[in-house]
Amino acid sequence: MKINTASFVISNSDVAKCPKERIPEYAFIGRSNVGKSSLINMLTGQNKLAKTSGRPGKTQLINHFKINNNWFLVDLPGYGYAKVSKSVKKTFQSFIKNYFLQREQLICSFILVDCRHEPQKIDLEFMEFLGENEIPFCIIFTKSDKLKISELNRNIKNYVKIMTSTVWEEMPKYFITSATSSNGKEDLLNYIDEINAGLDLNS
Ligand code: GDP
Repeated sequence: MKINTASFVISNSDVAKCPKERIPEYAFIGRSNVGKSSLINMLTGQNKLAKTSGRPGKTQLINHFKINNNWFLVDLPGYGYAKVSKSVKKTFQSFIKNYFLQREQLICSFILVDCRHEPQKIDLEFMEFLGENEIPFCIIFTKSDKLKISELNRNIKNYVKIMTSTVWEEMPKYFITSATSSNGKEDLLNYIDEINAGLDLNS
């Protein structure tokens, strides 16, 4: 799939106020600084669509973008801020969790993890929450250009090993990407395209 049009629709912090339109929706989430904005901009070919961390005014909102006029790409706030208080964390978690639990149009979520790091507790816990609630997701390993292929393979192998030796019977589908080299772009967009093609959008 090629993305021909990508436009911002709405931002809010309440799942009830998300667009009513019943088109397939794909959500992107991960720890702050994982490379989510860069990935969204790379996928859509628009370098200012999602706001990258360096920019001021980055807000903690659910951001809907309409792609090719037939699906939504949703940019969710980054989690895992070390500096916020427990009560802020709790409020944030409940608004994000409500989105996942209540958004009927959500087809698949992409959990972004930095390929350089060991599996992080917060990511594993978040995936467990999705699994427990039967919410489909894939993992996206970001910043693959930052590692040599041997290191990348070792890290992915380690990630698979940790996931499958704990709660998961099998490794969820995953993609290896780089916003810098566009690695993984085609695979990821084709995956979304294939799912969309298999959906009966009139039902
Ligand atoms: P976000 O907070 O998850 O939206 O992360 P950003 O997209 O703002 O990226 C955080 C930092 O990582 C920025 O300095 C980016 O330039 C850098 N970055 C993001 N993706 C990549 C990538 O694929 N390769 C490299 N080398 N750097 C990246």
